[in-house]
Amino acid sequence: MRKAGLTTSALAATLLAVVALSLGACARPQSAQPPGAHLTVASTPLSTLATVPSTVATAALEQTGSASPTATATTQTHAAASQLATPSAPQLPVPIATITKPTPIRLMDEPRDLPVPMLMYHVVGDAPKGAALPDLYVPADKFVDQMNYLSRNGYHAVTMQQVYDFWHGRGSLPQKPVVITFDDGFTSDYTVVAPLLKTVDWPATLFLIVGRNKPRMHPNMVRDMIASGWELGSHTISHEDLPGLSTRDMRKEIVTSRARLRKVYGVPVNFFCYPSGRFNQRAEAEVADAGYLLATTTVSGLARPDRPYELRRVRVLGQMSVRGFAAALNSAH
Ligand SMILES: [Zn+2]
Repeated sequence: MRKAGLTTSALAATLLAVVALSLGACARPQSAQPPGAHLTVASTPLSTLATVPSTVATAALEQTGSASPTATATTQTHAAASQLATPSAPQLPVPIATITKPTPIRLMDEPRDLPVPMLMYHVVGDAPKGAALPDLYVPADKFVDQMNYLSRNGYHAVTMQQVYDFWHGRGSLPQKPVVITFDDGFTSDYTVVAPLLKTVDWPATLFLIVGRNKPRMHPNMVRDMIASGWELGSHTISHEDLPGLSTRDMRKEIVTSRARLRKVYGVPVNFFCYPSGRFNQRAEAEVADAGYLLATTTVSGLARPDRPYELRRVRVLGQMSVRGFAAALNSAH
């Protein structure tokens, strides 16, 4: 009964987090408009949902000081969705589209050292004007096109755990596996991405910053995503560049973030993502000592089992066309 006791303050926090997409450490847009806020997805309120008392929504909006009044109706829908969620069924927002049904999975057992593409995303939504790093924002319609490309071309999303197990002689993989990763913990992962991927039951990997995003994703959002198949990885506590830290501070970022995520969410947290892709041998050794099984970088290419703590990824840029997306995927090596 994890949500039966949702308090008014927790509900307000949920509202707040849905209204204002958290500004992750990789992108710190200057605009007051939350990235992708207009993409908040529930265009048709769920008929079965109760209405959240307007005082709750108002309180949340007053707390943020940045949300527009027009956001209230939509956030009420989201909050109501959270309020009525049952423990057994994740209550994700309404998807903005459905992804094309994937081709039937054809499993394979060889070769065990198969390189695997791991897509790297940050925000799904439009970049606000003047965004410092606009390429971190992939518009939602482009993201849908990219997922449809994968689906129509025989790909199936898998978790990093499935890839790790496969590389170590356990289990099978689809013939064209792909891992879909999201860095930092932007709320668009919950409002836009999770409902979309749920339409085809595809998992994704969320690399969450434990301590810095404000407002960050509400833990209940993360719990719903985990319940719908998402895998949780650590992206440290403060998103500092690791090579510049003392061994003591580096260890805290790597070890403590894992411990906290495991405690809060009750999942293994076997995977790590270097903040801003910065790593060195010292960081790799600490990540391995902390018990992580794999770690991702921002180096372009395919993930390979011979470099478990230097996994390459395929970066998806903001304005990439489907053709560009396909080229990036197919040229990765
Ligand atoms: Zn990051």
